[in-house]
Amino acid sequence: MTLAVPRPVSDPVSAALPAVVGARLTVPLVDGSRVPYANLDHAASAPCLETVRDAVDELLPWYASVHRGAGFASQVSTKVYERAREVLRRFVGARRTDTVVFTRNTTDALNLLARALPRTTSVVHFDTDHHAALLPWRGPRVRRISSVASLDAALRVCPTGPRLVVVTGASNVTGELWPVADVAAVARQHGARVVLDAAQLAPHRPVDIRALDVDYVVLSGHKLYAPFGAGALVGRADWLRAADPYLVGGGATALVADRGSHLAVSWSTGPERHEAGTPNVVGAHALAVACETLGRHWDAIAEHERALLDRLRAGLAAVPGLRQLSLHESSFPSGDRVGVVSFAVAGRDPGLLAAALSAEHGIGVRDGAFCAHIATRRLLESAGAPGTRALRASLGLASTEEHVDRLVTALGSLVERGPRWHYAQVDGRWTPTPDPRPLPPFASAA
Ligand code: PLP
Repeated sequence: MTLAVPRPVSDPVSAALPAVVGARLTVPLVDGSRVPYANLDHAASAPCLETVRDAVDELLPWYASVHRGAGFASQVSTKVYERAREVLRRFVGARRTDTVVFTRNTTDALNLLARALPRTTSVVHFDTDHHAALLPWRGPRVRRISSVASLDAALRVCPTGPRLVVVTGASNVTGELWPVADVAAVARQHGARVVLDAAQLAPHRPVDIRALDVDYVVLSGHKLYAPFGAGALVGRADWLRAADPYLVGGGATALVADRGSHLAVSWSTGPERHEAGTPNVVGAHALAVACETLGRHWDAIAEHERALLDRLRAGLAAVPGLRQLSLHESSFPSGDRVGVVSFAVAGRDPGLLAAALSAEHGIGVRDGAFCAHIATRRLLESAGAPGTRALRASLGLASTEEHVDRLVTALGSLVERGPRWHYAQVDGRWTPTPDPRPLPPFASAA
Protein backbone atom coordinates (compact mmCIF):
# COMPACT_ATOMS: atom_id res chain seq x y z
CA MET A 1 0.00 0.00 0.00
CA THR A 2 1.40 3.46 -0.84
CA LEU A 3 0.83 6.19 1.68
CA ALA A 4 0.03 9.73 0.60
CA VAL A 5 1.57 11.75 3.41
CA PRO A 6 2.43 15.45 3.51
CA ARG A 7 6.01 16.61 3.95
CA PRO A 8 7.62 16.22 7.39
CA VAL A 9 6.93 18.60 10.25
CA SER A 10 9.87 21.01 10.52
CA ASP A 11 12.18 20.42 13.47
CA PRO A 12 12.44 23.97 14.84
CA VAL A 13 8.70 23.99 15.62
CA SER A 14 8.86 20.65 17.42
CA ALA A 15 11.86 21.88 19.40
CA ALA A 16 9.75 24.74 20.78
CA LEU A 17 7.12 22.39 22.17
CA PRO A 18 6.85 21.86 25.92
CA ALA A 19 8.20 18.46 26.94
CA VAL A 20 6.01 15.72 28.43
CA VAL A 21 6.88 13.05 30.97
CA GLY A 22 7.16 9.59 29.41
CA ALA A 23 8.07 10.76 25.91
CA ARG A 24 10.67 8.00 25.79
CA LEU A 25 8.46 5.29 27.25
CA THR A 26 8.88 1.86 25.69
CA VAL A 27 6.19 -0.82 25.87
CA PRO A 28 6.35 -4.60 25.43
CA LEU A 29 4.84 -6.35 22.41
CA VAL A 30 3.42 -9.86 22.38
CA ASP A 31 6.43 -11.10 20.36
CA GLY A 32 8.73 -10.29 23.30
CA SER A 33 10.27 -7.12 21.82
CA ARG A 34 9.84 -3.54 23.09
CA VAL A 35 9.07 -0.42 21.07
CA PRO A 36 8.68 3.27 21.88
CA TYR A 37 5.08 3.87 22.92
CA ALA A 38 3.01 5.64 20.29
CA ASN A 39 0.50 7.51 22.44
CA LEU A 40 -2.36 8.40 20.11
CA ASP A 41 -4.92 8.74 22.88
CA HIS A 42 -4.41 12.30 24.09
CA ALA A 43 -8.13 13.08 23.90
CA ALA A 44 -8.81 10.60 26.71
CA SER A 45 -6.03 11.74 29.04
CA ALA A 46 -2.85 13.58 28.12
CA PRO A 47 0.55 12.81 29.61
CA CYS A 48 1.98 15.08 32.29
CA LEU A 49 4.01 18.11 31.22
CA GLU A 50 7.54 18.18 32.60
CA THR A 51 6.91 21.70 33.92
CA VAL A 52 3.89 20.34 35.80
CA ARG A 53 5.82 17.43 37.27
CA ASP A 54 8.60 19.81 38.37
CA ALA A 55 6.11 22.24 39.88
CA VAL A 56 4.42 19.44 41.82
CA ASP A 57 7.83 18.26 43.07
CA GLU A 58 8.62 21.79 44.18
CA LEU A 59 5.30 22.13 46.00
CA LEU A 60 5.26 18.78 47.78
CA PRO A 61 7.68 19.66 50.62
CA TRP A 62 5.40 22.64 51.35
CA TYR A 63 2.20 20.63 50.99
CA ALA A 64 -0.18 21.36 53.86
CA SER A 65 -3.84 22.18 54.44
CA VAL A 66 -5.42 24.99 52.45
CA HIS A 67 -7.50 27.71 54.19
CA ARG A 68 -7.18 25.87 57.50
CA GLY A 69 -3.76 26.20 59.07
CA ALA A 70 -1.73 28.91 60.79
CA GLY A 71 1.49 27.08 59.98
CA PHE A 72 3.77 28.61 57.38
CA ALA A 73 3.44 25.63 55.03
CA SER A 74 -0.36 25.98 55.24
CA GLN A 75 -0.04 29.60 54.30
CA VAL A 76 2.17 28.70 51.36
CA SER A 77 -0.30 26.04 50.21
CA THR A 78 -3.18 28.51 50.56
CA LYS A 79 -1.32 31.11 48.50
CA VAL A 80 -0.55 28.50 45.83
CA TYR A 81 -4.20 27.45 45.67
CA GLU A 82 -5.53 31.01 45.37
CA ARG A 83 -2.82 31.89 42.84
CA ALA A 84 -4.03 28.95 40.74
CA ARG A 85 -7.49 30.57 40.57
CA GLU A 86 -5.96 33.72 39.14
CA VAL A 87 -3.99 31.74 36.57
CA LEU A 88 -7.16 29.91 35.46
CA ARG A 89 -8.99 33.21 35.27
CA ARG A 90 -6.33 34.60 32.91
CA PHE A 91 -6.07 31.35 30.93
CA VAL A 92 -9.67 31.60 29.80
CA GLY A 93 -9.77 35.42 29.61
CA ALA A 94 -12.41 35.62 32.35
CA ARG A 95 -14.17 38.82 33.34
CA ARG A 96 -13.06 40.49 36.61
CA THR A 97 -16.34 39.48 38.24
CA ASP A 98 -16.21 35.83 37.14
CA THR A 99 -15.56 33.15 39.70
CA VAL A 100 -13.22 30.16 39.43
CA VAL A 101 -14.37 27.00 41.18
CA PHE A 102 -12.00 24.04 41.27
CA THR A 103 -13.68 20.74 40.51
CA ARG A 104 -12.46 17.23 39.85
CA ASN A 105 -12.92 17.47 36.08
CA THR A 106 -15.31 18.66 33.36
CA THR A 107 -18.02 16.18 34.36
CA ASP A 108 -17.91 17.48 37.90
CA ALA A 109 -17.96 21.10 36.71
CA LEU A 110 -21.01 20.58 34.47
CA ASN A 111 -22.89 18.70 37.20
CA LEU A 112 -22.10 21.53 39.59
CA LEU A 113 -23.44 24.10 37.15
CA ALA A 114 -26.55 21.99 36.49
CA ARG A 115 -27.28 21.93 40.23
CA ALA A 116 -26.70 25.66 40.54
CA LEU A 117 -29.17 26.74 37.84
CA PRO A 118 -32.10 28.83 39.04
CA ARG A 119 -35.13 26.54 39.36
CA THR A 120 -36.94 27.78 36.26
CA THR A 121 -33.97 27.68 33.88
CA SER A 122 -34.58 26.32 30.40
CA VAL A 123 -31.61 24.40 29.00
CA VAL A 124 -30.89 23.81 25.31
CA HIS A 125 -28.15 21.37 24.42
CA PHE A 126 -26.93 19.35 21.44
CA ASP A 127 -27.60 15.63 21.28
CA THR A 128 -24.14 14.92 19.83
CA ASP A 129 -22.36 16.11 22.97
CA HIS A 130 -20.17 14.07 25.25
CA HIS A 131 -22.27 12.46 27.98
CA ALA A 132 -20.78 14.89 30.51
CA ALA A 133 -22.51 17.72 28.66
CA LEU A 134 -25.55 15.67 27.63
CA LEU A 135 -26.75 14.11 30.85
CA PRO A 136 -26.62 16.54 33.81
CA TRP A 137 -29.66 18.56 32.63
CA ARG A 138 -32.96 17.25 33.92
CA GLY A 139 -36.59 18.24 33.94
CA PRO A 140 -39.30 19.49 31.62
CA ARG A 141 -37.40 22.62 30.59
CA VAL A 142 -34.58 20.75 28.87
CA ARG A 143 -34.52 20.69 25.06
CA ARG A 144 -32.19 18.57 22.97
CA ILE A 145 -31.36 19.71 19.44
CA SER A 146 -29.34 18.19 16.60
CA SER A 147 -27.93 21.20 14.81
CA VAL A 148 -26.88 24.81 15.26
CA ALA A 149 -29.57 25.74 12.74
CA SER A 150 -32.27 24.60 15.21
CA LEU A 151 -30.98 26.70 18.11
CA ASP A 152 -32.92 29.86 17.35
CA ALA A 153 -36.22 27.98 17.07
CA ALA A 154 -35.54 26.03 20.27
CA LEU A 155 -34.80 29.19 22.23
CA ARG A 156 -37.82 30.95 20.75
CA VAL A 157 -40.20 28.47 22.38
CA CYS A 158 -38.51 28.43 25.79
CA PRO A 159 -40.80 29.63 28.58
CA THR A 160 -39.92 32.90 30.29
CA GLY A 161 -37.14 32.62 32.81
CA PRO A 162 -33.41 32.05 32.72
CA ARG A 163 -31.96 30.11 29.76
CA LEU A 164 -28.74 28.22 29.26
CA VAL A 165 -27.22 26.88 26.05
CA VAL A 166 -24.61 24.12 26.32
CA VAL A 167 -22.02 24.03 23.55
CA THR A 168 -18.88 21.96 23.03
CA GLY A 169 -15.66 23.64 21.90
CA ALA A 170 -14.20 20.68 20.01
CA SER A 171 -15.85 17.31 19.46
CA ASN A 172 -14.18 14.46 21.29
CA VAL A 173 -15.25 12.16 18.44
CA THR A 174 -14.15 14.10 15.37
CA GLY A 175 -12.03 16.96 16.72
CA GLU A 176 -14.20 19.41 14.80
CA LEU A 177 -14.61 22.85 16.31
CA TRP A 178 -18.08 24.15 16.98
CA PRO A 179 -19.00 27.69 15.92
CA VAL A 180 -19.09 28.78 19.55
CA ALA A 181 -19.22 32.52 18.93
CA ASP A 182 -22.13 32.04 16.49
CA VAL A 183 -23.97 29.88 19.00
CA ALA A 184 -23.38 32.53 21.67
CA ALA A 185 -24.67 35.27 19.36
CA VAL A 186 -27.95 33.38 18.82
CA ALA A 187 -28.18 32.67 22.56
CA ARG A 188 -27.77 36.37 23.35
CA GLN A 189 -30.67 37.29 21.08
CA HIS A 190 -32.85 35.22 23.40
CA GLY A 191 -31.24 36.37 26.63
CA ALA A 192 -29.67 32.94 27.17
CA ARG A 193 -26.40 32.22 28.90
CA VAL A 194 -23.86 29.85 27.35
CA VAL A 195 -21.63 27.24 28.93
CA LEU A 196 -18.67 26.10 26.84
CA ASP A 197 -17.42 22.56 27.33
CA ALA A 198 -13.74 23.20 26.63
CA ALA A 199 -12.49 19.75 27.69
CA GLN A 200 -11.14 19.04 24.19
CA LEU A 201 -10.60 22.61 23.01
CA ALA A 202 -8.51 24.01 25.86
CA PRO A 203 -5.54 21.62 25.40
CA HIS A 204 -5.18 22.74 21.76
CA ARG A 205 -6.32 26.36 21.38
CA PRO A 206 -6.56 29.48 23.51
CA VAL A 207 -10.06 29.88 24.97
CA ASP A 208 -11.34 33.41 25.56
CA ILE A 209 -14.60 33.79 27.46
CA ARG A 210 -14.96 37.43 26.46
CA ALA A 211 -14.07 37.06 22.78
CA LEU A 212 -16.46 34.11 22.44
CA ASP A 213 -19.01 35.91 24.60
CA VAL A 214 -19.83 32.85 26.67
CA ASP A 215 -20.74 32.82 30.35
CA TYR A 216 -19.04 29.70 31.67
CA VAL A 217 -16.11 27.53 30.66
CA VAL A 218 -15.45 24.05 32.01
CA LEU A 219 -12.28 22.00 31.55
CA SER A 220 -10.26 19.04 32.89
CA GLY A 221 -6.66 19.07 34.11
CA HIS A 222 -5.98 15.52 32.97
CA LYS A 223 -6.66 16.50 29.35
CA LEU A 224 -4.51 19.61 29.78
CA TYR A 225 -1.33 17.70 30.66
CA ALA A 226 -1.95 18.09 34.42
CA PRO A 227 -3.21 14.69 35.64
CA PHE A 228 -3.54 15.51 39.33
CA GLY A 229 -7.30 15.36 39.79
CA ALA A 230 -8.38 18.97 39.25
CA GLY A 231 -10.64 20.65 36.73
CA ALA A 232 -12.45 23.96 36.79
CA LEU A 233 -15.67 25.84 36.27
CA VAL A 234 -15.05 29.49 35.43
CA GLY A 235 -17.81 32.01 34.88
CA ARG A 236 -20.58 34.22 36.18
CA ALA A 237 -20.69 34.27 39.97
CA ASP A 238 -24.37 35.16 40.62
CA TRP A 239 -26.11 31.80 40.07
CA LEU A 240 -23.31 30.00 41.86
CA ARG A 241 -23.49 32.37 44.81
CA ALA A 242 -27.26 31.94 45.08
CA ALA A 243 -27.30 28.15 44.74
CA ASP A 244 -27.15 25.58 47.50
CA PRO A 245 -23.61 24.28 47.97
CA TYR A 246 -22.74 21.44 45.60
CA LEU A 247 -21.44 19.40 48.53
CA VAL A 248 -21.98 20.28 52.15
CA GLY A 249 -19.25 20.12 54.73
CA GLY A 250 -16.16 21.91 55.98
CA GLY A 251 -14.77 24.71 53.87
CA ALA A 252 -18.14 25.65 52.36
CA THR A 253 -19.38 27.27 55.56
CA ALA A 254 -18.88 30.74 56.99
CA LEU A 255 -20.56 29.83 60.31
CA VAL A 256 -22.41 26.89 61.89
CA ALA A 257 -24.35 27.39 65.14
CA ASP A 258 -26.31 24.99 67.35
CA ARG A 259 -29.92 26.17 67.61
CA GLY A 260 -31.08 23.20 69.64
CA SER A 261 -33.62 21.76 67.23
CA HIS A 262 -31.50 22.51 64.19
CA LEU A 263 -28.14 23.74 62.98
CA ALA A 264 -27.98 27.27 61.64
CA VAL A 265 -25.52 27.34 58.76
CA SER A 266 -24.34 30.30 56.83
CA TRP A 267 -22.62 29.24 53.67
CA SER A 268 -19.62 30.93 52.14
CA THR A 269 -20.46 33.17 49.22
CA GLY A 270 -17.18 32.80 47.31
CA PRO A 271 -16.02 29.84 45.20
CA GLU A 272 -15.38 27.79 48.34
CA ARG A 273 -19.19 27.53 48.70
CA HIS A 274 -18.93 24.74 46.10
CA GLU A 275 -15.58 23.31 47.20
CA ALA A 276 -16.49 21.63 50.47
CA GLY A 277 -13.82 19.33 51.89
CA THR A 278 -10.07 19.75 51.79
CA PRO A 279 -9.11 21.44 48.51
CA ASN A 280 -6.84 19.67 46.02
CA VAL A 281 -3.99 22.15 46.06
CA VAL A 282 -1.63 19.84 44.17
CA GLY A 283 -4.19 19.41 41.39
CA ALA A 284 -5.01 23.12 41.23
CA HIS A 285 -1.32 24.07 41.11
CA ALA A 286 -0.61 21.42 38.46
CA LEU A 287 -3.51 22.70 36.36
CA ALA A 288 -2.36 26.30 36.71
CA VAL A 289 1.21 25.47 35.71
CA ALA A 290 -0.06 23.52 32.70
CA CYS A 291 -2.14 26.55 31.67
CA GLU A 292 0.87 28.83 32.01
CA THR A 293 3.07 26.44 30.03
CA LEU A 294 0.59 25.95 27.18
CA GLY A 295 0.00 29.70 27.11
CA ARG A 296 3.66 30.26 26.22
CA HIS A 297 3.57 27.80 23.30
CA TRP A 298 0.27 28.18 21.44
CA ASP A 299 1.82 28.87 18.06
CA ALA A 300 4.14 25.89 18.22
CA ILE A 301 1.36 23.64 19.52
CA ALA A 302 -1.02 24.64 16.75
CA GLU A 303 1.63 24.18 14.06
CA HIS A 304 2.76 20.79 15.43
CA GLU A 305 -0.79 19.45 15.65
CA ARG A 306 -1.94 20.84 12.32
CA ALA A 307 0.95 19.22 10.45
CA LEU A 308 0.47 15.89 12.24
CA LEU A 309 -3.28 16.00 11.73
CA ASP A 310 -2.87 16.57 7.97
CA ARG A 311 -0.43 13.66 7.87
CA LEU A 312 -2.77 11.44 9.88
CA ARG A 313 -5.87 12.22 7.82
CA ALA A 314 -4.03 11.76 4.52
CA GLY A 315 -2.52 8.49 5.73
CA LEU A 316 -5.84 7.13 6.99
CA ALA A 317 -7.53 8.11 3.73
CA ALA A 318 -5.24 5.64 1.93
CA VAL A 319 -6.17 2.65 4.15
CA PRO A 320 -8.59 0.43 2.20
CA GLY A 321 -12.11 0.39 3.63
CA LEU A 322 -11.41 3.06 6.24
CA ARG A 323 -14.05 5.78 6.74
CA GLN A 324 -13.28 8.90 8.78
CA LEU A 325 -16.19 10.30 10.76
CA SER A 326 -17.32 13.90 10.45
CA LEU A 327 -19.98 15.87 12.29
CA HIS A 328 -19.85 19.06 10.33
CA GLU A 329 -18.56 18.17 6.88
CA SER A 330 -21.92 19.04 5.36
CA SER A 331 -22.66 22.11 7.50
CA PHE A 332 -19.12 23.58 7.90
CA PRO A 333 -17.03 21.85 5.19
CA SER A 334 -13.86 23.90 5.68
CA GLY A 335 -14.21 23.74 9.44
CA ASP A 336 -11.23 23.88 11.75
CA ARG A 337 -10.44 20.88 13.93
CA VAL A 338 -8.09 19.71 16.65
CA GLY A 339 -6.03 16.53 16.41
CA VAL A 340 -8.78 13.97 16.96
CA VAL A 341 -9.87 11.54 14.22
CA SER A 342 -12.41 8.73 14.60
CA PHE A 343 -12.89 6.10 11.96
CA ALA A 344 -14.33 2.71 11.11
CA VAL A 345 -12.80 0.02 8.95
CA ALA A 346 -15.19 -2.05 6.86
CA GLY A 347 -15.56 -5.58 8.17
CA ARG A 348 -13.12 -5.09 11.10
CA ASP A 349 -14.03 -5.01 14.77
CA PRO A 350 -12.69 -1.74 16.23
CA GLY A 351 -11.95 -3.42 19.55
CA LEU A 352 -9.88 -6.12 17.88
CA LEU A 353 -8.00 -3.56 15.79
CA ALA A 354 -7.25 -1.49 18.92
CA ALA A 355 -6.02 -4.58 20.79
CA ALA A 356 -3.76 -5.59 17.88
CA LEU A 357 -2.43 -2.05 17.46
CA SER A 358 -1.39 -2.16 21.10
CA ALA A 359 -0.15 -5.75 21.35
CA GLU A 360 1.66 -5.98 18.01
CA HIS A 361 2.65 -2.36 17.32
CA GLY A 362 2.88 -0.52 20.66
CA ILE A 363 0.22 2.00 19.64
CA GLY A 364 -2.37 3.36 22.09
CA VAL A 365 -5.71 4.38 20.53
CA ARG A 366 -9.26 4.34 21.87
CA ASP A 367 -12.11 2.18 20.61
CA GLY A 368 -15.79 2.35 21.52
CA ALA A 369 -18.37 5.12 21.47
CA PHE A 370 -16.23 7.69 23.34
CA CYS A 371 -18.91 8.56 25.92
CA ALA A 372 -20.85 10.11 23.04
CA HIS A 373 -23.10 7.22 22.04
CA ILE A 374 -25.61 9.25 20.08
CA ALA A 375 -22.94 11.10 18.09
CA THR A 376 -20.88 8.00 17.36
CA ARG A 377 -23.84 5.94 16.19
CA ARG A 378 -25.12 8.75 13.99
CA LEU A 379 -21.70 9.44 12.48
CA LEU A 380 -21.08 5.78 11.73
CA GLU A 381 -24.44 5.61 10.04
CA SER A 382 -23.77 8.66 7.88
CA ALA A 383 -20.27 7.39 7.00
CA GLY A 384 -21.92 4.28 5.58
CA ALA A 385 -20.50 2.07 8.33
CA PRO A 386 -23.48 1.49 10.66
CA GLY A 387 -22.56 0.27 14.12
CA THR A 388 -22.03 1.42 17.65
CA ARG A 389 -18.26 1.53 18.00
CA ALA A 390 -15.36 3.17 16.19
CA LEU A 391 -11.63 3.76 16.62
CA ARG A 392 -10.16 7.10 17.62
CA ALA A 393 -6.61 8.41 17.21
CA SER A 394 -5.87 11.66 19.01
CA LEU A 395 -2.78 13.79 18.81
CA GLY A 396 -1.01 15.99 21.29
CA LEU A 397 2.37 17.06 22.55
CA ALA A 398 3.70 13.50 22.79
CA SER A 399 2.78 12.67 19.18
CA THR A 400 5.36 12.40 16.44
CA GLU A 401 5.39 11.74 12.71
CA GLU A 402 6.72 8.28 13.45
CA HIS A 403 3.67 7.53 15.63
CA VAL A 404 1.32 8.64 12.89
CA ASP A 405 3.16 6.68 10.21
CA ARG A 406 3.31 3.61 12.43
CA LEU A 407 -0.45 3.75 12.97
CA VAL A 408 -1.19 4.12 9.28
CA THR A 409 1.19 1.31 8.29
CA ALA A 410 -0.09 -0.98 11.06
CA LEU A 411 -3.72 -0.39 10.07
CA GLY A 412 -2.85 -1.10 6.45
CA SER A 413 -1.24 -4.40 7.38
CA LEU A 414 -4.08 -5.36 9.77
CA VAL A 415 -6.59 -4.69 7.02
CA GLU A 416 -4.62 -6.67 4.44
CA ARG A 417 -3.46 -9.59 6.53
CA GLY A 418 -5.35 -9.47 9.84
CA PRO A 419 -3.72 -9.78 13.25
CA ARG A 420 -0.64 -11.99 13.66
CA TRP A 421 -1.57 -13.06 17.21
CA HIS A 422 -4.58 -14.74 18.77
CA TYR A 423 -7.19 -12.65 20.54
CA ALA A 424 -10.28 -13.50 22.58
CA GLN A 425 -12.95 -11.40 24.20
CA VAL A 426 -12.52 -11.17 27.95
CA ASP A 427 -15.19 -9.19 29.83
CA GLY A 428 -16.24 -7.64 26.52
CA ARG A 429 -12.73 -6.49 25.52
CA TRP A 430 -10.45 -8.09 22.94
CA THR A 431 -7.34 -9.41 24.69
CA PRO A 432 -4.24 -11.16 23.32
CA THR A 433 -4.29 -14.87 24.25
CA PRO A 434 -1.83 -15.56 25.67
CA ASP A 435 -0.64 -12.12 26.71
CA PRO A 436 3.05 -12.46 27.59
CA ARG A 437 3.63 -8.72 28.01
CA PRO A 438 5.06 -8.08 31.50
CA LEU A 439 3.53 -5.31 33.60
CA PRO A 440 5.94 -2.97 35.39
CA PRO A 441 6.48 -4.22 38.98
CA PHE A 442 4.36 -1.46 40.56
CA ALA A 443 1.36 -2.52 38.44
CA SER A 444 1.69 -6.24 39.07
CA ALA A 445 -0.92 -8.08 41.14
CA ALA A 446 -0.75 -7.31 44.87
N1 PLP B 1 -16.50 16.90 27.39
C1 PLP B 1 -15.75 16.43 26.40
C2 PLP B 1 -15.85 17.07 25.03
C3 PLP B 1 -14.88 15.37 26.63
O1 PLP B 1 -14.13 14.90 25.63
C4 PLP B 1 -14.81 14.82 27.92
C5 PLP B 1 -13.95 13.65 28.19
O2 PLP B 1 -13.53 12.93 27.32
C6 PLP B 1 -15.61 15.36 28.91
C7 PLP B 1 -16.44 16.40 28.62
C8 PLP B 1 -15.57 14.80 30.30
O3 PLP B 1 -14.30 15.06 30.84
P1 PLP B 1 -13.89 14.37 32.20
O4 PLP B 1 -13.96 12.89 31.98
O5 PLP B 1 -12.51 14.85 32.43
O6 PLP B 1 -14.85 14.83 33.22
